[in-house]
Amino acid sequence: MEESGRVARWLTSWGVVEPLERGLWRIAEPIGRTGEWGVDWVNAFLVEGERRALLFDSGIGVGDLEAVVGFLVAKPLTVVVSHAHWDHAGGARRLAARAEAVRAHPAEAARLAAGEADGWLRRALEAEVRRGRLPAGDLPAPGHLGPLRTLAAGEETIDLGGRRALLLHTPGHTPGGLSLLVEPDGWLFPSDLAYRGGLLWLQEAEADLDAYARSLDRLRALGGLRALFGGHDLVAQPPRMLEELRAAFEKARERAARGAGRPGRRGEAGGVRVEVDGFGFLLPEEGAGGR
Ligand SMILES: [Zn+2]
Repeated sequence: MEESGRVARWLTSWGVVEPLERGLWRIAEPIGRTGEWGVDWVNAFLVEGERRALLFDSGIGVGDLEAVVGFLVAKPLTVVVSHAHWDHAGGARRLAARAEAVRAHPAEAARLAAGEADGWLRRALEAEVRRGRLPAGDLPAPGHLGPLRTLAAGEETIDLGGRRALLLHTPGHTPGGLSLLVEPDGWLFPSDLAYRGGLLWLQEAEADLDAYARSLDRLRALGGLRALFGGHDLVAQPPRMLEELRAAFEKARERAARGAGRPGRRGEAGGVRVEVDGFGFLLPEEGAGGR
């Protein structure tokens, strides 16, 4: 009973759980409330096989995500963090108690272990408490982005029973970014590499534009894709979105190199904002040269 109360509180005060397909849920948190990030929602995905379940990304860390996951599936759980950013790794520390393992790419592990400053996130969320939109008890604990037990996994296939989860190394947004492919369903989860509806962040020092292009090419070459579920905002895009994004990215690089972009806003951490064919990009100030 206590767990169902915690689940109800998380659902009514904060997040959204959306069944997408049989054995697949989207667990979304309203990241748009915590600042000007150019995206409204951050998505985590729960995939259930016959023998085990996998949670891909872990949200911001508000409230009892572990109760929500436990309410949906009772099977052994693996948690995979696509990359070390706070809006994808925020709940992983708490979920580590329920999970058999928390996995991330080795290139992200050091950053996960070092943790990120979370004081500003707390301040943003405390404003939500004052507005009455979030119970004080659901704030992330101080230091929640601190060290995680991570298993170094470059690429890996996990048998869920009737479903295989393939973890693919797709750098570009960050050096150790992972995408998830679930077979035989043809579901692709590219996390922050590919989504529609919000700005794609490629302006930070850790981003690599050439690696980004190569990662998109690798995902485009995958056979048997049925649907794409991105790390932010709109979900369940058709696989042709990868082709459209790849073409838009080339145009965006050209425009940024010509100085045709607009400066990013406060929360967008600088960079140049370029919008092409329904996609928004934040690219480095120095244009489109890559590294
Ligand atoms: Zn990210």
